[in-house]
Amino acid sequence: MPGGRELLLYGRGAHEVPLLAALPAEPHAAAAHLRWHPLLGEWVAYAGARQGRTFLPDAAACPLCPAADGRLGEIPFADFEIAVFENRFPALTPGAVGVPDVAGVATSAADGRCEVVVFSADHVGGLGTLPVDRLALLIEVWGARIKALRDEAGFAFVLPFENRGEEIGVTLHHPHGQIYAFSFVPQRALKVARAQQDAPVLTHLIEDLPHELLLDTEDAAVSFVPGFAMYPYETWLAPRRRVAGPEALLPAETLSLARLLRRAVRRLDGLFGRPMPYILAVQAAPRGFEESFHMTVELRPFRRDADKLKYLAGVEQGTGVFLVDVPPEQAAARLKAVDPERGA
Ligand SMILES: [Zn+2]
Repeated sequence: MPGGRELLLYGRGAHEVPLLAALPAEPHAAAAHLRWHPLLGEWVAYAGARQGRTFLPDAAACPLCPAADGRLGEIPFADFEIAVFENRFPALTPGAVGVPDVAGVATSAADGRCEVVVFSADHVGGLGTLPVDRLALLIEVWGARIKALRDEAGFAFVLPFENRGEEIGVTLHHPHGQIYAFSFVPQRALKVARAQQDAPVLTHLIEDLPHELLLDTEDAAVSFVPGFAMYPYETWLAPRRRVAGPEALLPAETLSLARLLRRAVRRLDGLFGRPMPYILAVQAAPRGFEESFHMTVELRPFRRDADKLKYLAGVEQGTGVFLVDVPPEQAAARLKAVDPERGA
């Protein structure tokens, strides 16, 4: 791509569409860097250049739609299945150079990689409406990127995720997610990985899942509301077998997860009869924890009632303790009452 950014296409079929013109490169590189929070003991990422990024364009100006004559986009082809490209406004870049310490705060290079994953050439839709096979392909793409970024490029932690809904600041409607590769393991991921290294917490949790929390099952995977959910209607998916991440799933497990994912999103959308804003995060093993980690796909919804959004307010921000007004058992019962095959 212009400026040397990488574009990768993934698909079931051969890609035989001619290359069209692409968007020009960004004129200036972001002066992104990390600063150390000495009290919390974790990195904060600064990426000022991100303020210039595209904000809610019309469908006609969508940069994620396929390119057409006279219309430039991020993906210079008239059609594609799933496209992955390096973000034009990255918070982390490979081989980023450091900046001097500022105001007594230690800094570090924002080394990493930020990718955009476009789920479909179609501007409209999402994980609840795409065919199961496309979701299976997406799970394979997550796995392929984790292999490339963690196992081959040597990044410490890779997070595939999707932010969905204007309510939580999504700037583009076209169905897409992102992947961040970090040169360090973020504190939260490290905690989760260490807990699983000490004991197979998640594997046991799935084996002994109470019926009231179980949402849906497939041969090789389950979906459930965790009994310790921090968000109302929080929904997790996991393979039954302990698998470190999507890169290690068997085809049957991928298919089971794809079916569950589609139905989980449709349940969330059906709950209040409108698209649910959510954050989806794929939790896969950080580098070095592959032998003990059990992967999950976690959906954190941001609507707690038909017209009420969940905000992280005083207690959450001030202490890290989450207040939840829907008990997980009740959330699971309400989600189970939604027919995922009914039109969302
Ligand atoms: Zn679009």
